[in-house]
Amino acid sequence: MKNKKPTGMRCSKMKEACGIFGIFAPGQDLLRLTNYALYALQHRGQESAGIAISDGHNIHLKKEAGLVSEVFPHFKSLKNVSALAAVGHVRHSIAGKDSPENAQPLLVRYRHGNLAVAHNGNLVNADELRGNLEKEGSIFQTTTDSELVAHLIARYGCDDFESSLKSVLPHLHGAFSFLFLAEDKLVGLRDPFGMRPLSLGRWGDRYVLASETCAFDAIGAEMLRDIAPGEMIIITKEGIKSLQVLPSHRSALCIFEFIYFSRPDSNIGGKNVHSVRKKLGNLLAREHPVEADIVTGVPDSSITAASGFAEEMGLPYEMGLVKNRYIGRTFIQPWQDSRNVGVQLKLNPVKKVVEGKRIVVVDDSIVRGTTSKNLVNMFFKAGAKEVHLRISSSPIISPCYYGIDMQTREELVGSRMKIEEICREIGATSLKYLSPQGMLDAVGLPPDGFCLACFSGEYPV
Ligand code: SF4
Repeated sequence: MKNKKPTGMRCSKMKEACGIFGIFAPGQDLLRLTNYALYALQHRGQESAGIAISDGHNIHLKKEAGLVSEVFPHFKSLKNVSALAAVGHVRHSIAGKDSPENAQPLLVRYRHGNLAVAHNGNLVNADELRGNLEKEGSIFQTTTDSELVAHLIARYGCDDFESSLKSVLPHLHGAFSFLFLAEDKLVGLRDPFGMRPLSLGRWGDRYVLASETCAFDAIGAEMLRDIAPGEMIIITKEGIKSLQVLPSHRSALCIFEFIYFSRPDSNIGGKNVHSVRKKLGNLLAREHPVEADIVTGVPDSSITAASGFAEEMGLPYEMGLVKNRYIGRTFIQPWQDSRNVGVQLKLNPVKKVVEGKRIVVVDDSIVRGTTSKNLVNMFFKAGAKEVHLRISSSPIISPCYYGIDMQTREELVGSRMKIEEICREIGATSLKYLSPQGMLDAVGLPPDGFCLACFSGEYPV
């Protein structure tokens, strides 16, 4: 049994697990470039940050708990490394995996040399794989899937890293994007359903890999394409090689990348995240119109959907909530007490805007319901006459086993209650969600290419 935090004490919004970045650019200032890229990916994880740089013979690693801006001064010793390639990681843990030693990248030394590993996602068979290795005498220092995969690679008796990795792949089940930094190469890998994002870009005549394309913009790189489900990319001094190493029958990208996780300036599958969110708001208004005076959105991820809702309804969009940008995202706070304080410190209604008004509040999701309850309460306290909550996704009824922190049915208010009951529980004047079809129409990519398991209970893996 995993060491889980008590569910009642967990925060109310879902959490993404990580952001990863890799660059192969010999002789360049890879510390600076990786640092910029990690700044751009900071929204994907705020618990720790790390950078591993290869000089062609050794891999040098620095990682610390904290935001990129906080930990970067500790990375200065990497400045003098004559760099060949680098990987960077920003992390947010899921339940039971939040100890400092789990910061990534993970660096191991094995018979083929040094290897740094960074990943985003979750292996669904991690417990089984770990148990088997432990029975055979393996000792683990972290609870990360990166260490597990590093152990498996070290155990396979192949002649080189690439062959060892290929031998390990059939044993890995779940949602993952991995980056491996060997002394002479950078390797990217995406799971056979492409559930976690990974994109390939070009920086000058060199290549970069990242969870999101906003990291490419941060360093002036150009987006080339998304890594295909089950594809492995190997980048060396000789160039780039693509191998379809895992059979892929269908894509199942986490639809929350569009709804919530990714930055609005990122593009996935050729679609801009901001434009999709606007469309989510348009369709939400078409499905669930309401008579109101103003529309407002919960910063930051729901502002675009709220503006789409206002546009469709012909209502003014107003800034009804102000966010204090100097506190981490509320959902990153691991304990209920700090979350309650966090919501109040972080989001404050603009009394002048909401007083005496019928307001529509657009949010991207309701997980446990506590944040919504707090928000509705704050709006009424600020003088709102009516608070109509509109959600730009469907009710979350099933846990996610793919690296997003909502792992039990009991913690999901959408699983325990009907929509009318949730509305009563959070105290809103009305509550409506966007339909699954509405979400898919807003994204505008082939509808069978997404994971919708937390809305439907039908799991791709
Ligand atoms: S279950 Fe939900 S949160 Fe998890 S990967 Fe699928 S769509 Fe994303």
